[in-house]
Parts: sequence; structure tokens; C-alpha cells
Amino acid sequence: MLPTSTSILIIGAGPAGLSCALSLITNGVKPQDITIVDAQAQGLNSSRAIVIHAKTLEELDTVGCSDNLVSEGNANQALSVCSGRTTLVQADFPTLAGRTRFPFALIISQTETERILEERLAELGLSVQRPYRMSNLKGVDDGIEVSFENGVMIKTAFLVAADGSRSMVRSLSEIGFKDPGTGEDPHSDSVRNASHKEKPLAIADVHFVDDVSPSLSDKVYLGPRGLFLFFRLSNPSVHKPIYRLACLMEPGTKDITKDVLQNAFQIGLELPRNQTPIMESVIFSSTFHVRFAVADQLYKSIEGGIIALVGDAAHIHSPAGGQGMNLGIRDAIDLGRILANILSDPMRSNALEVLERYSTERRSLALQTIKMTKALTRFVLVENVLIRKVRNMIMWILGRLPGSGGRLAYNLSGLR
Ligand SMILES: Cc1cc2nc3c(=O)[nH]c(=O)nc-3n(C[C@H](O)[C@H](O)[C@H](O)COP(=O)(O)OP(=O)(O)OC[C@H]3O[C@@H](n4cnc5c(N)ncnc54)[C@H](O)[C@@H]3O)c2cc1C
Repeated sequence: MLPTSTSILIIGAGPAGLSCALSLITNGVKPQDITIVDAQAQGLNSSRAIVIHAKTLEELDTVGCSDNLVSEGNANQALSVCSGRTTLVQADFPTLAGRTRFPFALIISQTETERILEERLAELGLSVQRPYRMSNLKGVDDGIEVSFENGVMIKTAFLVAADGSRSMVRSLSEIGFKDPGTGEDPHSDSVRNASHKEKPLAIADVHFVDDVSPSLSDKVYLGPRGLFLFFRLSNPSVHKPIYRLACLMEPGTKDITKDVLQNAFQIGLELPRNQTPIMESVIFSSTFHVRFAVADQLYKSIEGGIIALVGDAAHIHSPAGGQGMNLGIRDAIDLGRILANILSDPMRSNALEVLERYSTERRSLALQTIKMTKALTRFVLVENVLIRKVRNMIMWILGRLPGSGGRLAYNLSGLR
């Protein structure tokens, strides 16, 4: 049951909301002063993000989660971009060894990441309250009144919007959310209508009948027929291997069957039919359109309280480079530290100044990430076959320049 008031209310228990709660407690806020709610009756959202980079693991280490994540994931040393059996470029993660305790890219399903974060939160004495779908908010003299669809109401001084890209908190607070290039809201009718003509990106998590050669996985394939992504998501000594596949589909495709995936897999990896590993089952599949947007501001002071945004509520971008969830977790751990500091000062003297800094810094990082992932997305989704050939040749040359693998690993890692 929800209390009638709380110092900090977090809406949404995805990776960002959970990380914010963990950071608040690790930085000295008592669990009984925090309330975290989610609209879903159970945790474990669908498997979406699959990569946790070094900087994010360092931040998650401060809240006691990294060792568990590392033991369950696949610590990838060399993320490669290939055409057939030829490696074009390769991120060389061991070169990060002097800079981080985590010189690899951890490949793990978002479902597992959320489970590990939620278990750690319970260990620290805080449980997610479910299902509570927030439906309204109002600034009053001594706080923000937040109401839920089931009629419950709770008052808080600090409201954290960790409720994803369609954030109800963000829209009720009248904070704009736009693509910095086009100025369009990604959820507007015009953008939604245009998406019917676009090729959706399909993702699926699957099991194979037999073991798959490790030489085939953990690669982005850029063959003559377009993008295909193939990664092993788990540590095979802990779980039966689960593999993530992703590729573009024809506009309007909705039904991602095992046969459709098996065919796309063979074409994407350019394997002879009789040498293509056979899929056993599809655990999860989905299609989506890549969108980019950032909130106009990541905090707002309203009558009675303060609202702050983290994760997809604050920014969304293409999954190219696996940055979205990473940036969101790092926003959330940063915000947790900031709010813990503000709460420890009874005068709350420089609260607005510090939150303004949070908003400016995290927004600027989001804009940089949007710029980088837009460029990467355009590069990997080229349609023209001739341009694809030239692109691959350029990548092959760049991939052979001294230090290129280390530079790529560093840029992806978030350590900058
Ligand atoms: C197909 C796909 C692939 C991706 N791959 C990657 C990747 O490889 N690497 C990467 O870093 N990122 C990736 N991302 C992005 C990543 O999944 C998101 O950035 C991440 O889930 C955002 O976390 P979040 O906690 O901000 O929001 P969410 O995970 O969306 O969580 C929001 C939570 O809020 C709850 N909620 C929503 N509204 C309400 C309400 N009104 N009241 C109460 N609760 C509410 C929801 O139930 C949900 O649990 C991918 C995304 C997609 C779609």
C-alpha cells in the first residue's frame, strides 16, 4: 500500500527508476523516505537493451550491482562489424584496461538487468509498489499531489519521472520533447503516420537447437542485403544461451515468426543453408521505429515541489552503439546523488542551482549521444548497394589504422 506522503516519489521501475532509488539509498536516504511505483503488475519489462558499457558498470558498482551483472552476462572483448566473414572494424575493449575495472562491453538482456537491480533494491530495504499507474499531478502549497488510476493519491516534495519515453510526468509538467534536428515530437500523429512507410527494426531473442560457433556471434553484419545484428546475451555456464537478432523488415511487417527470422538470419550472416544454425524457439520479438528526442529541460520547479527527469523520459535515440539505457542509468545514479545531497541539507540552499547544472549537463550528453547515434544509424542503414560497398571499403580501411579498435572501444564505453 502507498503511504499518503513521501520525500521522494519515483514513477517507473525500469532501469532508470531502479538505479535512481539504489543511488538515493547508497547515498544516505532512508528507504522509508522513498516510494517507487510502476504501472506493471510484475517487473521484467521486455528484453530491449542488450549492452552495458564500462562507465555504466562503474556507476552500477557504486550501488553494488556490477558483480552480479557481470557474472550473468557475456563480457564481450571485441565487438565487430563484419561483411560476411571479413571483419571491417572491431572495438578492442581490453585496451580500456588501464582506465576501468570493466574493460569489456557486457552483453546481457535488459530483463536480467532489471531483475538484478530490483533484487538489490529489495536487499537494501525498498520494494517497488505495483501496479500503480500515475494519472495526474498538481503542485500545492506543501508538495506535489500525485494521483493514480485506482484513485490513490500521494504527496511528495521531489517527483522523479522515470516513466519512459511516453512519460506522463513530462507531459503533465508541460516539458517539451523534440527531435533536436527536426523539432518534431516523436509521438505526434504526423510522425506516427509517416512510420507506416518506413522499414521497422525487428528484434528477437531466440534459442538455437545446437551450440552456435562463437565465431559467428557478437557481431554486426553489414552484408550486401543490409544490417543484421547477432549477439549472445548470457553466460552459457549460467543459462542456456539466448541470442539477440535484429534486422530491418519490410514496411508494415508485424508478424515476426521463427521462419521469418531463420530466413533473415541465413541471409544476414551470408551462410549456406545447410550450414546455418537452426532456431529452436523465439522467446521474445518486437518491431519498432528508431526515433530521437530530448526534453527541453530535465528538471522543473513547480509550486510545492520539484520534478526531475531521467532515462527515456528525458531522451531517446537509436539503439546503434547501445547507448540509450546506459545514459539513462547514469542520469539516474547522478540524480540520486544530487537529491540525497539536497535532502541532507535542511536549508536546501542551492537545490535549484544544482538541479539546473544536472539538467544542463545531462541534456548536453543526450544531445551528443543523439548526434553520434544519428550518424551511426545513417551509416549502417544505407540502402543503395553500391554505396554499401563503398561504405564497407571505407570501414575496412579505417579498421586497419593503428589504434582504431581502442578508439572505438573508448568512444562506446562512456568513459570520456
Ligand atoms: C528495441 C530496443 C532496443 C534497445 N537496445 C538498447 C541497447 O542495446 N542499449 C541501450 O543502452 N539501450 C537500448 N534501448 C533503449 C532502452 O531499452 C531504454 O533506454 C531503457 O529501457 C530506458 O529505461 P527507462 O527506465 O528510462 O524506461 P523504461 O524501461 O521504458 O521504463 C519505464 C517504466 O515506467 C513505467 N511507467 C510508464 N508510465 C507509467 C505511469 N503512468 N505510472 C507508473 N509507471 C509507469 C513502465 O511500466 C516502465 O516499467 C533499446 C530500446 C529498444 C526499444
